[in-house]
Amino acid sequence: MFLLLLLCMWGLLLQGDAQDRASLWRGNDRSGRCQYTFSVPSPVEASCPQSGGPEVEALKARLSLLEVLVSRLTGGDATTGPQGSRPRAQPDLQEALNRAVGERNLLQGEKQRLERELEGLQHRMEEMRRETERLRNRPCPPQTPMVPPSSGGSGSLSHLMNRPNRQGDSSSLRDSAWQYGPPGFQELKAEVTEVPAPDGSEDNTGCGDLVSVAEPVTHRKADNIAGKYGVWMQDPEGVSPYGSSMVWRIDTVGSEVRQLFGYDDMEQLSKGFPSKVLLLPDPVEGTGATMYRGSLYYQRRRSRTLIRYDLSSESIAARRELPHAGFHGQFPYSWGGYTDIDLSVDEQGLWAVYSTSKAKGAIVISQLDPHSLEVKKSWETNIRKNSVANSFIICGRLYTVASYTATDTTINYMYDTTTSQGKAVAIPFKNKYRYNSMIDYSPVQRKLLAWDNFHIVSYDLRLGRQQAN
Ligand code: CA
Repeated sequence: MFLLLLLCMWGLLLQGDAQDRASLWRGNDRSGRCQYTFSVPSPVEASCPQSGGPEVEALKARLSLLEVLVSRLTGGDATTGPQGSRPRAQPDLQEALNRAVGERNLLQGEKQRLERELEGLQHRMEEMRRETERLRNRPCPPQTPMVPPSSGGSGSLSHLMNRPNRQGDSSSLRDSAWQYGPPGFQELKAEVTEVPAPDGSEDNTGCGDLVSVAEPVTHRKADNIAGKYGVWMQDPEGVSPYGSSMVWRIDTVGSEVRQLFGYDDMEQLSKGFPSKVLLLPDPVEGTGATMYRGSLYYQRRRSRTLIRYDLSSESIAARRELPHAGFHGQFPYSWGGYTDIDLSVDEQGLWAVYSTSKAKGAIVISQLDPHSLEVKKSWETNIRKNSVANSFIICGRLYTVASYTATDTTINYMYDTTTSQGKAVAIPFKNKYRYNSMIDYSPVQRKLLAWDNFHIVSYDLRLGRQQAN
């Protein structure tokens, strides 16, 4: 205002002719501040075109700006200065920061979601690629597939699927991976090992002492975790509709093990094409199941109950407790896995290997009636069951394996039920995959069948001349 006053006075001095008509007022404005006003008549205009025209408004605006500037320069009104704006700016900044952080978190979440989605898509793509490869390698089905053998089954639950035969269309049937979606098959080429020719040391019955066990031959690798351990078997006296070439398999990882896969022969097992999948009425425990005369024999989960499941009628034919037998981890083999009761079949029939509280953990061998599951005769050994990895019976002789993990271990003990005598032996034995969960003798193949860490393997044997202990 002071500057404006000087300016106006200077103008008055220059324009002397208008001096007599200029006037000065002083008074308070609306806000109570003192305001000076000059009034000078226009030399050219008799009257203003409009009161308070744009020039005046512009002047007022400029004046206000000047006032603000002067005030800042003189440090007058502190409330409008930069320091004065800080308390209000801080919450604004904080709010902006919070918003930015929120947005960043949202974006990060979205990024993670997209990454997961990408991973899932890549996984699916890989599965589809494998499936395509598998389908491409599969032989084409014939135009008129053969009719599958009639199961004659009455069990509504157990009969799941049939596949005609090895030449038939198996598109609707796969093995263990079938229940877990696309499998990612890993085909293993079966090694071919020649069976050693019988030599002069073998007796006529072929029931001599075990002399040696060859290197394991791998037939199949399980596709998923359910097959880390399991049991596979052949029926030495198979009955219709299944012959002796039929191979059976149960993956035993899990608490509700009920699926039994059937393969027409070893070749189909190696390829992973089951022709039959049965759902057992009761869940299986351990890896001690066996197959004999058209029935599957197994221990019911969490019990000492033995079950005979008839394959042709697909129903339970017999159910009986194995007297005093430990179960569910009471007397397992050294690797655990609820291997308390181990059933097997040899030239002399059906056997159970287990222990009881009375035997204090020592191996008890019982010969069972295959029809009723009654114990016909028992033998109590002095081998602690949990000190050995597994056992198998050949010609009424029990053999124990020392370790289930050592690559090079031994068959360390033999017990002969004919003489009720046992003795230490040392026959080299290999656990190729270092986690052997099942070993049994197959009288059909005259080999040992085993399940070693996802791998279905077999061992050729040499039996010597029968000797008295
Ligand atoms: Ca066994």
